[in-house]
Amino acid sequence: MKLRNILITLFVLAVLGLIYVQYQYLRIGLNLAAVQFNEKMGAVVTDVKDGLVSENKLSFLVGKAVAQDDTYFNLSIDSVQDASRYFLDDYLKEVLVKHGINSAYTYVLRNRDTVEYLHSPRGSGGFEKPLSFPVKLEGYLPQVTGENLVLELQFQNLNSYFLSQLRGLTIPGLVFILIIIGVTVWVLKGFLRQQSLISITNEFINNLTHELKTPVFSIGLATKLLAESEQVNKKEVAEIIRVQLEKLKGQIDRVLELASLEEKGEVLQKTKFNLQEMVTEVGAEFESVARLEGIHFEMDISEQEVDLKGIRGHLKNAVDTLLDNARKYSEDPRKVKLVYRCNGKTAWIRVEDNGIGIAEADQKRIFNKFYRIGSGDLHLVKGYGLGLHYVKHIVKLHDGKVSVESQPGSGSVFTIQLPLK
Ligand code: ADP
Repeated sequence: MKLRNILITLFVLAVLGLIYVQYQYLRIGLNLAAVQFNEKMGAVVTDVKDGLVSENKLSFLVGKAVAQDDTYFNLSIDSVQDASRYFLDDYLKEVLVKHGINSAYTYVLRNRDTVEYLHSPRGSGGFEKPLSFPVKLEGYLPQVTGENLVLELQFQNLNSYFLSQLRGLTIPGLVFILIIIGVTVWVLKGFLRQQSLISITNEFINNLTHELKTPVFSIGLATKLLAESEQVNKKEVAEIIRVQLEKLKGQIDRVLELASLEEKGEVLQKTKFNLQEMVTEVGAEFESVARLEGIHFEMDISEQEVDLKGIRGHLKNAVDTLLDNARKYSEDPRKVKLVYRCNGKTAWIRVEDNGIGIAEADQKRIFNKFYRIGSGDLHLVKGYGLGLHYVKHIVKLHDGKVSVESQPGSGSVFTIQLPLK
């Protein structure tokens, strides 16, 4: 497995593990909270029982309400029941708060046969899956009413309540996990980019060395000839040396030119020129190359002439690079087409070929410096992976865009889109 895949797998496993551990902590936290709640409720039940066991103002009032006795108070039975409902609620709230329970509750006062006498002012029940704590009342109230009374305290499904209490831990926990994921992805991306840059740079150096070796070798051979043989045609050998030196110079210039362009690209002077005429010129120049190589070359240049403010020489090189790639990467019977269109606001220069095509995964990368598809000896076509990077750079200097549409085996279409200001 590749290092990249191992790292990604380890990372995904670690994050999943972390989420699982967090989940388990949460579950344990919820269970502990439930145990603690039950303990507190045990104390509440005892307190409520004790508070109502003997006669006092509250138990007296509740007793009258349960027995529906309005003779003592000069009030209707409804008012007596209402009052006891509120007093009982206040009392329960006080006991719950005393034991540190703030969650919403309701209560019902009923007998064993579930006949309901009183319920909390907010209504009885109302919770979907209530957690019930029945308090079997003893002493005064069962005696005066002659009923077995049960005061049932009900709480809503407490998980959400506990969760809300644990929120102070769960939300920071989640935020920290997200931060870890974010930072790790960022570092991993940087690391992988660095790795691929190293291998791409190595490949570039290999290619360059290979390309430089050939002329150096030829020059070496020619000088040896000059030194060892009397009869050689000096002019011919000198010509060989000159051509090979030109080649060498060309290779070196290509690399240096891009480097210097990247450094001081912004200060390059832009002048107005006729874009349509420039495209026609590159096309005409390419036509002779195409004829020599037996490529079927077609030009489809719209009539519309337009002035563009830019760097003519570089833009011409960029179009030429696309045409040259179409030539290099096309297959028999080779077909290349150059299209120019303009609508007054935007101009498009398109280079189409019927060549080997580019897989989707490579389409974004081919514009990167030194990037070449395939690796090492697989390259039948020589190059440094600088052409498209140069095209992108130049098009960007003109505030334009370069894009590619392609499928392996069915050719490629490169489009330069330029805004006309
Ligand atoms: P070079 O041609 O020197 O390798 P480029 O930057 O021009 O560098 O191209 C980068 C890579 O993109 C090439 O190596 C080639 O694999 C791929 N490529 C470019 N143009 C085409 C095309 N028209 N058809 C298929 N592949 C292409």
